[in-house]
Amino acid sequence: MPELPEVETVKNGFLQNLEQGLSVSNYWQSPYPLRFSEPDNIGKKLKRQSLKGISRRAKYLMFEFEDYILVSHLGMSGTWREGVRNQKHDHIQIEFSNGKVFTFHDPRRFGYICLLPKKDWQKHKFFSHLGPEPLGKDFSADYLYAKTRKKQQAIKNFIMDQKIVVGVGNIYASEALFLSGIRPSKRAFKLTRKQSQALVENIKVVLKKAIQAGGSYIRDFLNIEGAASFQRQLYVYGKAECECKHCGHRIKKIVQAGRSSFYCPQCQV
Ligand SMILES: [Zn+2]
Repeated sequence: MPELPEVETVKNGFLQNLEQGLSVSNYWQSPYPLRFSEPDNIGKKLKRQSLKGISRRAKYLMFEFEDYILVSHLGMSGTWREGVRNQKHDHIQIEFSNGKVFTFHDPRRFGYICLLPKKDWQKHKFFSHLGPEPLGKDFSADYLYAKTRKKQQAIKNFIMDQKIVVGVGNIYASEALFLSGIRPSKRAFKLTRKQSQALVENIKVVLKKAIQAGGSYIRDFLNIEGAASFQRQLYVYGKAECECKHCGHRIKKIVQAGRSSFYCPQCQV
């Protein structure tokens, strides 16, 4: 499933191909519904709109036009590819005024695309509940420390809650907790100021590393080699019964909120 670093990579891929001022010259969508059904007038609405910028919020790609924001979510298996391929599972095709065509390919159709009025987009149900971006200034040690007070929840589940901070998937949560020496099952309110500081810093470090690994643009926008090189850097995730790279103790696996957590019983308290 595409996580924040993959979406960031896709965004960077688009930034390398599209510049401000371009418009949409053709918009096509397949008759098969994606996760949310969309009126088929997106192309019409975007016709005379010029592109103002491309960004990412949580796992959403945001194409900002004059009056609208075109929002794309990759779901479970969605990818954006450059060019027309006419393959099975191609669901959206957008041609820009520089002649470049991008195709949204999604075999499982959990992805979606929609057009929001630019005004008050933050209040839309996709975005209104989202916490700060993990790489932004708002996600700070003070913020995390304050948020964790009186919270009984396990710290790993806490940092994976989109309302607290967006984009910290299972793999990144496990790795950041290891680097911070914090056990995933530790109750959130027990976090010290120092631990909050370490955890915030390490979440940023782990995500940046993953973005770097997946960050070089390739034609399919999804850098498989990058993902593999990031996998090789992992300390605990998926490494049950392996030796801890720091102390040699065996990595333990537990299940929290239905998801696997991995930690070193010696390094993480
Ligand atoms: Zn260890």
